[in-house]
Amino acid sequence: MAKRTKGKCKYCGKEYTMSYMNRHLSACEERRKQLTAQTGSKRCGYFQLAVYSKYDRDYWMFIEVRDTATLKDVDSFLRDIWLECCGHLSAFTIDGIRYDVQPDTDSFWGIPARSMNYKLKSVLEKGMTIEYEYDFGSTTELMITVVNHRPGYWQKDKLIILSRNNPPVFICDECGEKAAVFISGEYDWTGKGLLCEDCIKKSEFDEEMFLDICNSPRVGVCGYNGSDIYPDQFVSDLDKETLKNSK
Ligand SMILES: [Zn+2]
Ligand SMILES: [Zn+2]
Ligand SMILES: [Zn+2]
Repeated sequence: MAKRTKGKCKYCGKEYTMSYMNRHLSACEERRKQLTAQTGSKRCGYFQLAVYSKYDRDYWMFIEVRDTATLKDVDSFLRDIWLECCGHLSAFTIDGIRYDVQPDTDSFWGIPARSMNYKLKSVLEKGMTIEYEYDFGSTTELMITVVNHRPGYWQKDKLIILSRNNPPVFICDECGEKAAVFISGEYDWTGKGLLCEDCIKKSEFDEEMFLDICNSPRVGVCGYNGSDIYPDQFVSDLDKETLKNSK
C-alpha cells in the first residue's frame, strides 16, 4: 500500500498522517497555549470537522467552524479550496436528509430536500459522519466526521484550517522520472496521462486535453484546475513566521 500523505499542524508545524493528526490536534501544546490565551466578551461554540475524500484517503483536512455558521458556509469553503470548476450543484446528506445548494421545493418525489441555510449546531452532533457531493454528474464525494465540539471565545474567522494534507507527488507516465504537473481528463479510465513540464511539450500531446495537477480530490475531473484562493501547500503559523522574518 502506498504511503499515506502527511500534513502540517497549523499551530506547531509538525507533520502527521490523517489519523495521527486527529490525535495530535487534541494534544498539541502550541494549540492549547493559543486557545487558553484567547479572550473576549462573547462566547460561542466550535465544531472540529475532519473532511476527506470518500475514495482517496490522500486528501483530507481538519477544520474548525463556529457552530452558528451554516451548511452554506461550509459548502462555499469546500468549493473554494477543493472543488469549484463550473458552478455545479452540491448537497450534504445528514441522517438521511439532503441539504441542497438549490433545493427543489416542489418536488413530489419522496422527502423534499432542505436548503443549506441550516446552522451547524442545529444539524450536527459530535461523533456523526455526514456525506457531501459536489457535481451530480462527475461527482466528487466527500465524508465529514464531526470530531469535536468545544466552547470558546468569538473570533473574527468563522472557519479556520487546522491541518491539510501536503500535495501528493505524481510521477510523469512518459519519462517515469520527473514530477507530473499535468493530468489528462481521460486519466480515470486509461490509467495513464500524467505528464511533466518537459514531456507535455512533445508534439503528440494536445495541451488542451490536460488539466493542472492540484491538491484536491477533484484533480483531473471536469475542468478543475485547482483553487484560486488556497495554495496547494498548507502554510502553518510557524511557516508564516519564518516567511515574515526572512523578508
Ligand atoms: Zn501541533
Ligand atoms: Zn465542471
Ligand atoms: Zn516526463
